[in-house]
Amino acid sequence: MSDETKYIHAGRHKKWTKGIVNPPIFRASTIIYDTVEEMDHALKNMHKNTLFYGRKGTDTHFALMEAMKEIEGCAGAWFYPSGLAACTGAIMAFAGAGDHILVTDSVYEPTKKFCKSNLKNMGVEVEFYDPMIGSDIESLIRPNTKIIFTEAPSSVTMEVQDIPAITKVARKHDIVVILDNTWATPALFDAYGHGVDVVVHAATKYFIGHSDAMIGIATANDKCWARLRDHNQQMGYCASADDVYMVLRGIRTLKLRLKQHEENALKVASWLKRQDIVDKTLHPAFEDCLGHENWKRDFSGSSGLFSFTFNCGGRQAVSALLDHLKLFKMGFSWGGYESLVMGLYDLKKSRDAKVWEEKNPLLRLHIGLEEPDDLIADLAQAFEIYRQYI
Ligand SMILES: *Cc1c(COP(=O)(O)O)cnc(C)c1O
Repeated sequence: MSDETKYIHAGRHKKWTKGIVNPPIFRASTIIYDTVEEMDHALKNMHKNTLFYGRKGTDTHFALMEAMKEIEGCAGAWFYPSGLAACTGAIMAFAGAGDHILVTDSVYEPTKKFCKSNLKNMGVEVEFYDPMIGSDIESLIRPNTKIIFTEAPSSVTMEVQDIPAITKVARKHDIVVILDNTWATPALFDAYGHGVDVVVHAATKYFIGHSDAMIGIATANDKCWARLRDHNQQMGYCASADDVYMVLRGIRTLKLRLKQHEENALKVASWLKRQDIVDKTLHPAFEDCLGHENWKRDFSGSSGLFSFTFNCGGRQAVSALLDHLKLFKMGFSWGGYESLVMGLYDLKKSRDAKVWEEKNPLLRLHIGLEEPDDLIADLAQAFEIYRQYI
């Protein structure tokens, strides 16, 4: 079955949908039992998609768990109140006091903050590594290394890591590889096919797709699912049936939306590449982007998020440009239908393992579903403002 068809039908089993196209939103705390036998049955089967207690999910949640298995090939999936909670929850599930973990230097900034503060306080030693390290990661492995945390591409500087090279080394040393797959989603990168053990998604982004809900998902392969599940159940992580429903709804159009995000982003990036004030187009499909070769080899497409650097100008020029953009709004997060822009001035401070060499300003764009020519016209008029400051 083609992926396009799979995304339409995943998780839509009659036992969850009750014969409706979409599964109903079942809100619950208490589940009530008429007999002791019924209650015992629920107790015995609580991890087998059987109603037990609201925190452990209702049919709406079970439908999304099934959908994730079908579209991603994971052994199990669970839901977190945000993407960040899925990242930190997955790390805590596999590392404790006295352990050492390796985290890509290009990791999502709040994940890095957690590693440097809370995780450190829990007695876990965190070492950041050059995102482009590839199989040389073996030289950093210690007897107590438990996790290699990866993110491909990074969500600001866009380096595409060599995931197969890293998972190959990790398997040899029995280390768990976690991947933050938010940029690609299962639609553009087959994490389990490339040897990853645990995948985290900020479903807030493309799964939801409309900038109107916060939710995280962590999934695992057969080897890691029981441990990930025990951790998230003991921690009490859960997401509301309403938000879970929104993810299910988003999955139906995920492939289609990503195709359009890709096409639009490539058009805008190609235009940027031709501008005299642009230095590097940091889009995985462009050679300027570190790890472009890895993207070409391992990914089936690109999404709508990328960055570029100027070859001139500074903070003042960038601020003037940002103030004059009309369609591109400034805002955190991305993955919705709308275009967004973010100016980044001081990337050096965000690096611990390897210096970020670019001296000129970097702009991150999320290309939405608007007509790309309109977006290009918006950028073109703002570039004229930029030129007044150089
Ligand atoms: C946004 C994001 C997160 C966090 O997701 P939230 O739902 O905003 O908490 C994690 N990782 C990456 C790569 C992200 O872009």
